Amino acid sequence: RGNMIVAELAKLLHKDASEVIKKLISLGVMATINQELDIETIQLVASEFKVEEVEIKIPVEEDDFETVEEKDNEEDLQSRAPVVTIMGHVDHGKTTLLDAIRSTNVTSGEAGGITQHIGAYQVEINNKKITFLDTPGHEAFTMMRARGAEVTDITIIVVAADDGVMPQTVEAISHAKAAKVPIIVAVNKIDKPDANPDTIKQELTKYELVPEEWGGDTIFVNVSAKQRTNLEELLEMILLVAEVNDYKANPNKRARGTVLEAELDKGKGPIARVLVQHGTLKIGDAFVAGNTFGRIRAMINDKGRRLKEADPSTPVEITGLTEVPKAGDPFMVFEDERKARAISERRSIKQRQSQMGANSRVTLDDLYKHI
Ligand code: GDP
Ligand code: MG
Repeated sequence: RGNMIVAELAKLLHKDASEVIKKLISLGVMATINQELDIETIQLVASEFKVEEVEIKIPVEEDDFETVEEKDNEEDLQSRAPVVTIMGHVDHGKTTLLDAIRSTNVTSGEAGGITQHIGAYQVEINNKKITFLDTPGHEAFTMMRARGAEVTDITIIVVAADDGVMPQTVEAISHAKAAKVPIIVAVNKIDKPDANPDTIKQELTKYELVPEEWGGDTIFVNVSAKQRTNLEELLEMILLVAEVNDYKANPNKRARGTVLEAELDKGKGPIARVLVQHGTLKIGDAFVAGNTFGRIRAMINDKGRRLKEADPSTPVEITGLTEVPKAGDPFMVFEDERKARAISERRSIKQRQSQMGANSRVTLDDLYKHI
C-alpha cells in the first residue's frame, strides 16, 4: 500500500503545498513537499482543514473487468458443458425435477457421498457433462440478468400437465427469450390421471413454442419428475441442443466467472459459490469478486470433493474471500493479491461514484482505501 506525498495531498485538498506543510509543522510533523505521509497524518491534516470529502476521479484502468476480456483464438477453445436453468410456475415440479436428475446421476463411486448445495451441480451422461443451476430459478435468473451476468446456455421450462400454462410460465418464457437462450419444454406430472400433455403443447403455441411434430423447432419432453420417467430423454435433448450450439471456452487462461450465491459461514468465513466460465480456477489464485477480493484457499465441488482446479462450466464453492460478494457479481483472477485488492477497491469507488452521479464526491475513507 503506497503512501501519499505532501504535494499529492495538497492537490486533493485544493491547497498549496506550503499551506499543508505549515499545517504539518503546527501539528509537530516536519515535512517537505516530497514527504510521504501515513494515513493517520493525512486524516489529521484533512480534518484540520475541515475537509470531510474531496473530489477525486479514479481513472479507469486498462486492467479493469470490462476491458480485459481478451479475444480467444479459435484453436484455444475447447468444448465445455452446457449450463442449464430450470424455470416454471410454482409447484410445477422444478425442485423435484432438479433433485431427480441429480440423484439419478449419482455414479456408484459417489453413492452415499455427501452432496453439497453449491448453487449448481453437474451430471454426466454418455460421458458428457451438464451443469444445472439450482439457485431458486426466477429470482436468481432475474437478478443475474439485471446485473448483466449471462450464465445460462439453455432453459428448461417446466409445465405441469395437470395445470397448464400459468403466469410464471409466461414470465419464464419471456426471460429465456430476452436472454436469447434455447428453450426445452419439460411437460411434467404425466403420471397424474388428469394429465394432458397435448393441451400444454397447444397452449404453448401462443408463445411461439411449437413442437417439431407440428412444424416448429421447440423440443418438448414429457416427464414425471416424481416417478423419474423420461429423465434420460430430457438429458439427451439437452446434450443435443448443446451439440448444435457447440458451447466452448478457453481453459488455458486465468479464470473468469460469476458468483451464483455467497454468504458468511460461521466456520469458514465468507464463502461464495461460483461458476467458472472461462479459464481454469486454481488453488492460490488471487481474484476479485464484485467489489471484494481474495485468494482461493479451498474449492469444493457439488460432491463435496476438494478440487485443485476447476475448468469452464464447473461450479465450485470457494473460501478465501475477505468479504461476502453478491449473487451475479463477476468473478475474475488477477496476477497477484496486490493487484486484486487494488482492482476491488477501485471498483468500490467507481460503484459509489456511479451511484452518486458523475460529479460525485468521495469520502476520505474511500481515499485512504485507495492509497
Ligand atoms: P416447484 O415449486 O416448481 O419447485 O415444485 P416442487 O418440485 O416443489 O413440486 C410441487 C409438488 O408437485 C410436490 O408435492 C411434488 O411432489 C409434486 N410433483 C412434482 N413433480 C411431480 C410429478 O412428476 N408427478 C406428480 N404426481 N407430482 C409431482
Ligand atoms: Mg421449488
